[in-house]
Amino acid sequence: MRRSIATVCLSGTLDDKLRAAAAAGFDGVEIFENDLIAAPLSPEQVRERCADLGLSIDLYQPFRDFEAVGPEQLERNLRRARHKFELMRRLGADTVLVCSSVSPDAVDDDDLAAEQLHRLASEAAEHGMRVAYEALAWGRHVNTWRHSWEIVRRGDHPALGVCLDSFHVLSREPEPSGIAEIPGEKLFFLQLADAPRLDMDVLQWSRHHRLFPGQGAFDLTSFTAQVLAAGYRGPLSLEVFNDVFRQSPPDRAAVDAMRSLVALEEELAALSAARPDARPDARRVARPDAPVELSAPPAAPEPAGFAFAELAVDADSGPVVERALASLGFAHIGQHRSKPVQLWQQGEARIVLNAGAGDATGIAALAVETDDPGRSARRAQELCAPALPRTRGPEEADLTAVAAPDGSSVLFCRTGADPASWLSDFIRTGDASTSIAGISRIDHIGLTQPFDYFDEATLFYRSVLGLDPRDDSEFAAPFGLVRSRAITEPKGRVRIVLNGSLLRRGEWAPGVPDPQHIAFRTDDIVTTARVLAERGAPLLRVPDNYYDDLDARRHVDPELLAEMRRYGVLHDVDAHGEYFHCHTELLGSRVFFEIVQRVDGYTGYGAVNAPVRMAAHRDARLLRT
Ligand code: MG
Ligand code: MG
Repeated sequence: MRRSIATVCLSGTLDDKLRAAAAAGFDGVEIFENDLIAAPLSPEQVRERCADLGLSIDLYQPFRDFEAVGPEQLERNLRRARHKFELMRRLGADTVLVCSSVSPDAVDDDDLAAEQLHRLASEAAEHGMRVAYEALAWGRHVNTWRHSWEIVRRGDHPALGVCLDSFHVLSREPEPSGIAEIPGEKLFFLQLADAPRLDMDVLQWSRHHRLFPGQGAFDLTSFTAQVLAAGYRGPLSLEVFNDVFRQSPPDRAAVDAMRSLVALEEELAALSAARPDARPDARRVARPDAPVELSAPPAAPEPAGFAFAELAVDADSGPVVERALASLGFAHIGQHRSKPVQLWQQGEARIVLNAGAGDATGIAALAVETDDPGRSARRAQELCAPALPRTRGPEEADLTAVAAPDGSSVLFCRTGADPASWLSDFIRTGDASTSIAGISRIDHIGLTQPFDYFDEATLFYRSVLGLDPRDDSEFAAPFGLVRSRAITEPKGRVRIVLNGSLLRRGEWAPGVPDPQHIAFRTDDIVTTARVLAERGAPLLRVPDNYYDDLDARRHVDPELLAEMRRYGVLHDVDAHGEYFHCHTELLGSRVFFEIVQRVDGYTGYGAVNAPVRMAAHRDARLLRT
């Protein structure tokens, strides 16, 4: 399928947008009228610019408030249309988007609308152009895809067809049926946008909250499959109005957009993969007579867990983190052959401390266990994650690494079976890892995302690692509203928790700007916490008020409650089971550790306790200064 993007999705001037779209690999663009009007380039120069960049102009939009009007208004509208057809000729665009009218002058008369659109299409045809009629979800008389198709059907002109926009369809009808019955040749254009489920005015919802496919709650896979099953073979084109994308760097947003289409195509390919004639690289969706070329990146090998997490440390934070790891019962088991890098381990939980990563401190890399690191890396690259060169010395393992959008790395490795495993990069110190504190593995990794990149990060980890987003929550934290979203492997072996301030952080926000944490798993939180306390771990103190409230809310065994109070263990419960967790203080500037116990298949992350934990972290910092 060809991939296209509306210029309105991206920030900047028309030229910024075109360059970003081309650099991200798009085949074409929809030119949004306002972008053209504001551009210093003539239509011919825009056409040339697009050609130089390898972009086709797939749609000119929007043409508003045309149909179902009185005769004089119709003449004025046709005159306006002729100007636009002439402009489109100069641009080299052959399809115009006509949105259903929102004008108070429009009358509720389908036959009149059809007749006038027929007339518009006749004039378009004389210019070698086509009219794609789109039902806005807030159109005055026409606001459903069925209704727009009915009018196009009655209009009955070869140059008149329908534009389907997933937002307008799915915002009104989450599971539409019948789209596949529209004749494919009458589907002139397809615009794709996702969105979160919000209970609000549909126009505001559309203007401010559209997202790229896979970032919201709409089922774009089955929607698009229906459109393809109808026989549509035009471009998959993104039309996303979003307050954040409007001001994000256009190159980065265009890459995010491209990733969303690659991931969508993969899901479409998977939908039709059951067909006996399906091939991995080119599959057809439902229509043997009109095959669809869908590109599918190599399937995601199941991530079997975190091999390690790499922390970049500096002269201040390094010793603090080392002491904390020792107090948590980790052993410093290896020293890198050629770099100032230490390997710490307990059970299957491994932390790499990198003192040679420059200024940045925090989680520099997540390493994921996979049985085919090469395939994982190739997949990541097809999903627009650039491969990272790893500087290697002699005898050093070739870790495949790609860049995450936030500048950290995602590494793929095979620790156990591979003789060339990354572990052989480390010279043993002689210290052995024991399970002295009962920590068995990394349970999850918590990353704070800037507000502007929250949805991008969701799509990145979800698509690159083949994870599912789940457990969305929002809570009022001491310094603002926080959104939290977990992205997990179905069996829970790899869990990433993204947190972000729901609103921009104000000047007053004494919290740590972008905290990160690594959570370790234990099967017995009280025993682990006791060992940690004995070893002098910097456990975070939790106020008595929390335990008094917990005692009031649910019956907890008094002895257990006393132990929880002593060690700062928090508690949560869901439909499956219970969760116990405690935390260290912040170690250096932004990282802390968490110890968690999941009882009976609890699936969450104790988000309900996060405000208490955040206030406690703030208190601990105040005590130190
Ligand atoms: Mg649209
Ligand atoms: Mg956590």
